[in-house]
Amino acid sequence: DSVGFAIVGLGGYALNQMMPRFGQAGRAHIAAIVSGNPEKLRRVGDAYGVPQDARHSYADYAKIAADDRIDAVYIVLPTGLHADYATRAFAAGKHVLCEKPMALTSADCARMIAAGKRANRKLMIAYRSHFEPYNVEAMKLMRQKAVGDVRLLRTEQSYRMGPTSPSENWRTSRALAGGGPLEDYGLYGMQSALYLTNEMPESISASTFRPNGDPRFAEIFAHVSSQWRFPSGAVAQLVTSYDSAGVNFAHVRGTTGALIMDPATSYSGQKMRIEGGEDREFAPGDPSVQFARQIDHFVDAIRDNTPIITPGEMGLRDTRLIEAIYASAAAGRTVKLAPDGRMRG
Ligand code: NAD
Repeated sequence: DSVGFAIVGLGGYALNQMMPRFGQAGRAHIAAIVSGNPEKLRRVGDAYGVPQDARHSYADYAKIAADDRIDAVYIVLPTGLHADYATRAFAAGKHVLCEKPMALTSADCARMIAAGKRANRKLMIAYRSHFEPYNVEAMKLMRQKAVGDVRLLRTEQSYRMGPTSPSENWRTSRALAGGGPLEDYGLYGMQSALYLTNEMPESISASTFRPNGDPRFAEIFAHVSSQWRFPSGAVAQLVTSYDSAGVNFAHVRGTTGALIMDPATSYSGQKMRIEGGEDREFAPGDPSVQFARQIDHFVDAIRDNTPIITPGEMGLRDTRLIEAIYASAAAGRTVKLAPDGRMRG
C-alpha cells in the first residue's frame, strides 16, 4: 500500500517541485504537513486533502511520532535544521528523505546516519540528478569510456542573487546555509565530478571570496573555487558563485573526446553532447521525471527493503569534501584526503 509522508517545511521547493509529484505513482501520498504558517497549513492542507489533525506547527512536530498514518518524513527545511529534524523523525520511528545538502557538518551527518541505524529506518538524501535521465546516461557513458580516460573536468554553478541579507533570506545566513553557494548550488558540480569520474579526489586546493560591505555576503562567501586531483591523474576545476550570471555546466575531457552537459543538472532543459570522433547529441528522456523517480526509489527501499543509491553515507562523503574545501581555502594550502573523504593530517 501507499507510503504516507509528512512534509516538513512548505517552502518554494516543496510547494512547486516535490509536493505535486508525491501522488504521481500512486505509491506515496502526503499524510501530514508541518509549517510555521497557519494560513499555509490551511491552504496547502486543503489542496492536498491532508486531514485537519495532520497539519502541524513546528512546535507540534513531535506529534508525528504517535501518528501511524505517517511512515516517512520528507525534510525540506533550511539546511541548518536538517540534522535535528531528521534525528527526531528517526526517534519517532519514521523513515527519512532529507533534502540536499544533508547537513552543515560531517558530525551532524554522522549523527543522522547513527540515528537511522539505531531506529532501523531508511535515510535517503534527495540527490535528484541520480534519477534524471541525462545524468544517468552520462554516468553510463563514462563507465563505457565514451571519451576515453578522463583527464580534465570542469563544473560551474552560478546565479546572481538579488539584494538581500541574512535576516531576510536563510540562504545568506551562516547558521542555516553554511558557507553559501558551495553547499547549495556548487554541490551539483561536486556530485558531477564524483559520478562522472567514478573516483574520489586524493587532494583538493581551494579558495573563497567574500566582498566587503555587501549585505548578501555578510556571512557567506560570494564565490568558492576548488581544484581536485584524482588518483588516476585526472584533475577537476569546480567553481560556484552567488554573484555571477546564471550557468550550470559540466565538461569532461577525456583522451578521445569531451562530454558537454549544459545545462547539466537543472529541473528541465538539459542538453548533452559528445565532441570528438563523431559528434553525438543525446536526448535520453524528460529530465522532469527525476522528482517522481527519486520518490519511487525511496518508496521501493521502504516497501521492499532495497538499497538506496543516494544514502546518508553519500551526504556524509560530500560534506567531508566541503569541509576539506573550506579547510584548504582557510589555510591557503593543498589538503590531502583519504578515500572516504576525510582530511589526512
Ligand atoms: P525556501 O526558503 O523556499 O523554504 C524554506 C522553508 O523553511 C520556508 O517555508 C520557511 O518558512 C521554512 N522555515 C522553517 N524554519 C525556518 C527558519 N528557522 N528560517 C528560515 N526558514 C524556515 O527554501 P527551499 O528552496 O524550499 O529549500 C529548502 C530545502 O530544500 C533546502 O535544504 C534546499 O537546499 C533544498 N532544495 C533542494 C533543491 C533540489 O533541487 N533538490 C532545490 C531547492 C531547494
